[in-house]
Amino acid sequence: MRCYYSPGYYLPLPDGHPFPMAKFPQAHGMLLADEIIDVSDIELVEPCAREHLERVHHPAYLDRIQRGTLTSKEATLLGLPPGPALYERSARETEGTRLAARAALADGLAANLAGGTHHAFADRGEGFCVLNDVAVSVRDLQREQPDLRVLVVDTDAHQGNGTHALLGSDPNVATYSIHVAANYPSRKVSGTLDVGLERYARGEAYLSALRATLPPLLERHAPDLVYWLSGADPHQNDRFGQLQLTLRDMQERDRLVLGWLRDRPRPLSTVVLYGGGYNREPLHTARLHRNSVAAACDWA
Ligand SMILES: [Zn+2]
Repeated sequence: MRCYYSPGYYLPLPDGHPFPMAKFPQAHGMLLADEIIDVSDIELVEPCAREHLERVHHPAYLDRIQRGTLTSKEATLLGLPPGPALYERSARETEGTRLAARAALADGLAANLAGGTHHAFADRGEGFCVLNDVAVSVRDLQREQPDLRVLVVDTDAHQGNGTHALLGSDPNVATYSIHVAANYPSRKVSGTLDVGLERYARGEAYLSALRATLPPLLERHAPDLVYWLSGADPHQNDRFGQLQLTLRDMQERDRLVLGWLRDRPRPLSTVVLYGGGYNREPLHTARLHRNSVAAACDWA
C-alpha cells in the first residue's frame, strides 16, 4: 500500500503544547519497524502548490498563516503558532492527502501518514487544523472527474465541522461524522449524516451506533472514493476525546469500517488519514494511528 509521508510533518512546538507532533515520526517508525510497510512503499511529499490550496482557501488567509499575521484571537482558535514553518508543514500534510487520493483511485488503497485536518475552514483554522486537506484533494480530483462520488467517513471523536462546511453543499460528496455531541467544536456544522454520542460513551455504544448508521449511508451514496479519517482520540486514555473505547474497541472499529469499504465484490477506493489523537500515554497516539494503517494494509 502506498503511503505518503514527510519528515516535515514534525514541527517543533513550545514545551507543554498539547498537540503531539512527535506522533508523526513515531507512527512512521513503528510501521517500518513492525514491517507493516516497507521503505519502498513510502513516497516523500513536498508542500502543496498554492493553486491547489486556493481552490478551497482564501488567499488572504493563506498569506496570514505564512506571514504569521493572524490576530491573537485567530491564533488561539487555531492552537498552533502561525508563520512560515506552520504553513510549510500544513501544505505538506495537504499534499500527502492529495497524492494519496490519486493513488487510491489508481490502486484501491493508499494512506497519508498524517492528514484529516477537519476543523479548517476556507478563511480560518480551528483546533490544530490549518488547511482542510480533504477538501483541497476533492476539488483537485473534480477538475478531471467532475462526477466523482465521494464519501468522507470521519470516526474522529470530534465533529468534522470544517469539512462539512466546505463540502456539504456538493451533491456528489457525502460527509459522515460520529462524535461526542457535547464536545468540541461547540458550534457544529451539519453534514450529510451526523451521529452525536453521549459524553464518555463506551465502546459498545460507539460501535453499535457505527454499525447502525454507516453501512446504510454507504449503500445510499454509492461512492467511487472514500476518505477515512480514522482518529485516535476515541480511546479511553485520550485527553480531549471524551470517549471510552479500549484498544480492542478501537481495533474493532477499524476492522468494521475497513470491512464495509473493502470486503465487497468491488472494493471501494479508500484513502486512510490519521485525524486527531492526544493520548495521555505519549507513544499510544502513534500506536493507534499505526494500528489503523496496519488494518488497512490487510485489505491492500
Ligand atoms: Zn478529534
